[in-house]
Amino acid sequence: MDTKNKGFDTKLIHAGSYEDQFGSAVTPIYQTSTFGFKNAQHGADCFAGKSDGFIYTRIANPTIKAFEDAMAVLENGFGGIATSSGMSAVSSVYMALLGQNQHIVCSGSIYGPSRGVLEQDFSRFGVQSDFIDTSDLSQIENAIKENTKVLYIETPTNPTMQITDLIAASEIAHKHGVLVVVDNTFSSPYLQNPLDLGADVVLHSITKYINGHADVVGGVIVAKTEDLYKKIRHAMVYMGGNMDPHQAFLTHRGLKTLSIRMEKAQENAMKVAEYLEKHSKVAWIKYPGLKSHPQHELAKKQMRGFSSMISFELKGGLESGKKLMDNVHLAMLAVSLGGVETLIQHPASMTHAGMSKDAREKADITDGLVRFSVGIENVEDIISDLEQALAKV
Ligand SMILES: *Cc1c(COP(=O)(O)O)cnc(C)c1O
Repeated sequence: MDTKNKGFDTKLIHAGSYEDQFGSAVTPIYQTSTFGFKNAQHGADCFAGKSDGFIYTRIANPTIKAFEDAMAVLENGFGGIATSSGMSAVSSVYMALLGQNQHIVCSGSIYGPSRGVLEQDFSRFGVQSDFIDTSDLSQIENAIKENTKVLYIETPTNPTMQITDLIAASEIAHKHGVLVVVDNTFSSPYLQNPLDLGADVVLHSITKYINGHADVVGGVIVAKTEDLYKKIRHAMVYMGGNMDPHQAFLTHRGLKTLSIRMEKAQENAMKVAEYLEKHSKVAWIKYPGLKSHPQHELAKKQMRGFSSMISFELKGGLESGKKLMDNVHLAMLAVSLGGVETLIQHPASMTHAGMSKDAREKADITDGLVRFSVGIENVEDIISDLEQALAKV
């Protein structure tokens, strides 16, 4: 179905489908590694790109293509590229867009491994990286060098919830011929479309809001132009980071309820944030939906909602935070986020333990920071769970 002039929710349900001979209502799991050619000429045409027939599942597969096409529509890009994990999406983009003696500028507190793979691995092949506060536009201007190729942004950042002005940041980058890549995992396309705000490439860990059910690890990239799409798909296919058909099936199924899950999760998050902000044991809280968030106005302008990730620190720092994490029952003590269930975790010892303490401090990831991913349970239950745990702190 052509979803071109339809609303977001209609696109969620109907964009990306692969018609088969049985008229299946949803694209089935094409659990096959390879595809037979009709004859030698057809095989040659598939390889030459003159036929859109399928060849081999690492290159493309109908179940995976249905999900990729849906994501390309939802992010308003040329094409989607599904990957085995969010990190495979991140490293495929780095691999495609960076080379020896080239430079990338990133938000300081991006997802731990997205930073680690640059500092520990891409550095061995001569890629240089700098990490700055991209919410401060003058730092972007100052960090761009002669050999800078990519500006890599997370907004809101994980876990510090800083917001970067994507329109302004993209203008600065493009003035210097630098491509803009945005990790949109924390917002999902329901709340923010970076390609519409100037970015060239958007990516997601679909493990989080897009699949939303804590049962699949995966990633997806959407490129704005055909040229970028081809470059990144080449890197993904040659490095072998493809999604598999079963992953794609589950993810596409999860995707269809993104709007209603996100609406409920962010409604809950707002109530939890308001509860925590007033609590006497909370030292500070960061949630873009609160008026106290330093970039609340920018978040309102750039996003269509505030998502459901909250960071806060208790008075008494790390020790109090550990007490809280050991005493919650409904909230699961686990990494990951954006699922239907509420999760709590400690970035300094968990997701961001791979960063040096110095780098963490520079990026405002304090030892006492607790990250809370609000799920879609009854909000009264989430709050009373926090209440009884906070009473023990
Ligand atoms: C989880 C996450 C990733 C990595 O994704 P995986 O699916 O775990 O490989 C990348 N970026 C952000 C913002 C994330 O939250």
